[in-house]
Amino acid sequence: MPVTAVTDLPVVELFSSIQGEGPLVGCRQVFLRLAGCNLDCAYCDTDFQPSKCARIETQPGSEQFLYWENPLESTRLLAHLSTWKHQQPHLHHSLSLTGGEPLLHAEALKAWLPQLSTLFPIQLETNGTLPQALQLVIDQVEWVVMDIKLESQTGEPTPWAQHGEFLRVAVKRSCCVKLVVGPGTSESELVQAAQLVRDNAPDSEVFLQPCTVAGQCSLNGRILLQWQALIAEQGVRVRVVPQTHCFLAVL
Ligand code: SF4
Repeated sequence: MPVTAVTDLPVVELFSSIQGEGPLVGCRQVFLRLAGCNLDCAYCDTDFQPSKCARIETQPGSEQFLYWENPLESTRLLAHLSTWKHQQPHLHHSLSLTGGEPLLHAEALKAWLPQLSTLFPIQLETNGTLPQALQLVIDQVEWVVMDIKLESQTGEPTPWAQHGEFLRVAVKRSCCVKLVVGPGTSESELVQAAQLVRDNAPDSEVFLQPCTVAGQCSLNGRILLQWQALIAEQGVRVRVVPQTHCFLAVL
């Protein structure tokens, strides 16, 4: 059996694109998507299954890919990203560490992020349910973008206790909360989510993200205006940002 180093990672893909969601919307980022997830959200359209090979973009934005066998050695990924940085030192704002749920690999990330973060500041995109894993890497990330998973959208009970504990760790860095909302969202769960943020991470901003269905925003502006006001009433800053990369037709 091959020996897997603690820094080896099961990678789905590595590519360069425009961030379409959240606080860094519009920024050019490197996206590193890791395999595996601990949740099963009804709306999930992300391919996070572990596979034999990871697809690695050859040049930023080229949409041409190499296929490297998993798990990937961190040194190999680092060498590839160092080349990107050397060729276009001002192109990327940051690196988005995403999934799946990247914190499933917190031990490997803890070993690897000190080197990676010398190339790009790290934005962690997470489902906000693994607070102990976050503790391992929190000092190496600049931004934490965490979901509060609303039952109306995921089809599973919202893990309120884990989200609260997660927020209390995430506040060590720049932290914000994404709420994916859709036609079935209830006002009571929006209020509960806003109060959880207010009570555990009062400086964090909430991003209301309407579900995208068939390339269109699933909610009209009138209901989004109401929900934004409802969250603001709880004393929480709130922005409405749909998934812009869908309209741009980029990865
Ligand atoms: S947490 Fe994210 S990746 Fe995991 S199932 Fe839910 S939407 Fe998909």
